[in-house]
Amino acid sequence: MSDCIFCKIANREIPSEVVHEDDQAIAFKDINPVAPVHILVIPKKHYATLDAVPPAELGVVGHIHGIIQQLARDFGVAGGGYRVLNNCGPDAGQVVFHLHFHLIGGRTLTRLV
Ligand code: AMP
Ligand code: ZN
Repeated sequence: MSDCIFCKIANREIPSEVVHEDDQAIAFKDINPVAPVHILVIPKKHYATLDAVPPAELGVVGHIHGIIQQLARDFGVAGGGYRVLNNCGPDAGQVVFHLHFHLIGGRTLTRLV
């Protein structure tokens, strides 16, 4: 997707603070953090939303969660706990329509549900 900001980050066309990269995914710091640790993990392949991932390709979602586990350890929030968040679609408040998971931690988080 040529006009997608997260595709551009994945392609290194626009700068970001990358904290992990492999063949399938890239992780970078959120530009507007809501907590001391706020990292976005995205597949390199463009999917607009979580709902848009074909069942046969859902393995990338598990892969991303493995990265989240590792980043939580690396950034020191695995012990205290952290939140993994996906906003899927307009009603959930999704703003950037390239699948991403937020890793948020480093402070006590207000419960959502
Ligand atoms: P969402 O509401 O789940 O779509 O959240 C999109 C997130 O992307 C927000 O937390 C933004 O702060 C973040 N964001 C937008 N542009 C950038 C960027 N260029 N680099 C890092 N994070 C970004
Ligand atoms: Zn994209």
